[in-house]
Amino acid sequence: MTAATPQAAKAKGAHGQSGDETPTIHILWINAGLSCDGDSVALTAAMQPSIEQIALGVLPGLPKVAVHWPLIDFECGPVQGADTFIEWFFKGERGEIDPFVLVIEGSVPNEQIKREGYWCGFGDNPETGQPITTSEWIDRLADKAVAVVCAGTCATYGGIHAMAGNPTGAMGVPDYLGWDWRSKAGIPIVCVPGCPIQPDNFAETLTYLLYQVAGSAPMIPLDDKLRPTWLFGATVHEGCDRAGHYEQGVFAERYDDPTCLVRIGCWGPVVKCNVPKRGWMNGIGGCPNVGGICIACTMPGFPDKFMPFMDQPPGATLSTNASGAYGVLIRKLRAITLDTVDKEPKWRHTGRKLTTGYRRPW
Ligand code: SF4
Ligand code: SF4
Repeated sequence: MTAATPQAAKAKGAHGQSGDETPTIHILWINAGLSCDGDSVALTAAMQPSIEQIALGVLPGLPKVAVHWPLIDFECGPVQGADTFIEWFFKGERGEIDPFVLVIEGSVPNEQIKREGYWCGFGDNPETGQPITTSEWIDRLADKAVAVVCAGTCATYGGIHAMAGNPTGAMGVPDYLGWDWRSKAGIPIVCVPGCPIQPDNFAETLTYLLYQVAGSAPMIPLDDKLRPTWLFGATVHEGCDRAGHYEQGVFAERYDDPTCLVRIGCWGPVVKCNVPKRGWMNGIGGCPNVGGICIACTMPGFPDKFMPFMDQPPGATLSTNASGAYGVLIRKLRAITLDTVDKEPKWRHTGRKLTTGYRRPW
C-alpha cells in the first residue's frame, strides 16, 4: 500500500523522492518472524489513526509515506513475477530508499543452532535461490533504517515462541540486536508489545515516529523495556472498570461474575497495559472490562512467568484478604452514606411554606 497507488509509489523512483522532491518515508514491514500475523491483522482495526490515514497522508504535517506491508500489499507476488514486493527490501539494503522505518513482526529464531536448514525466511536470495532468513534481513537492514519498530510481544520480547523448552532459541529483536542498539538516527528500538498489539497503540507509535523522522516531534519517550511511556506507564488494574470492586473487596468466583477477577487468575495489578482504558477497537472491549482475566501478554516475562493462567496469582491471597477485610467495613459505611445521599433534600415540596432555610437579606 502506498501514498497513492502502486504506480505512483513506483513513480517516486528508487530514491524515495516524490515528484515534488518531498522526501517519502518508506515503511518496510517484515512479518516473517515466528508469529501468527495477528499484529498485522489487529492493525487493520486501528482508528486513531487508521492505517489508511497514515498511508494516504491525510494527517496534518505527516510526511509522505509508502507502506510495504505484506498483509495487504497488492505488489505481493512471486519472486521475479510481474510485481516483486520483495524488491523494496533489496532497495532498502542498497540504500536506494532512504529514509525507511523497519517494522518487524514475530520473534527472531536463532539460526545458528539450525545448520541443516532455517526456521523462518522472507523472499529468496537471487544469487542462490535459497530463502533469506528473517535474522539475515535484520542484519541487512537494521543499520540502514532510520528506526526499528517491533510489532507485538513476539518481536519485542520473544513471546510464546520463546517459552522455556522451545526448539528454536527464539528471542525478541532487542535480544537479537542488543538492548542498547541505536538506529543511524540515534533512535532506540521501539517496542509495542501485546499479543496482539492494541491497534491504536501501534498506529499512534508509528505516527509519532513518522513525525519525529520528519523533524516535528522530539525523541520518542521510552521506558527501560523500550515501550512508549505514554502507552505503557500505568497498570491494567489502574484503568480497569472493575477496580472499584477490588477496592471494596468483592471478588468473582466465576467468569460470568461482573466483579473483580483477581481470584480467578487476573494479573492486572502488576501488568503494564492500557487496554482496559483504551478498549480493543474504537474504544470497545478491554480484557478484564469484558470478563477476560489479564494474562499479562504485554510483559517481557510472558508467558512463562504468568502460567498457569487460570490460577490465582501469587500475592493475590494476601492482598485480596486484606482488601476483603477492609472492604467489609468500608462497604457498610458507604451503604449508610449512600442511603443518605440517595434521597432528595426534604425542602423540595409543595405547599405555602418555604423550608429551604432562605433568609431575606433586607
Ligand atoms: S479484574 Fe484484574 S485488573 Fe480489574 S480490578 Fe480485578 S485484578 Fe484489577
Ligand atoms: S489487559 Fe492483559 S491480557 Fe489484555 S491486552 Fe493487556 S496485558 Fe494483554
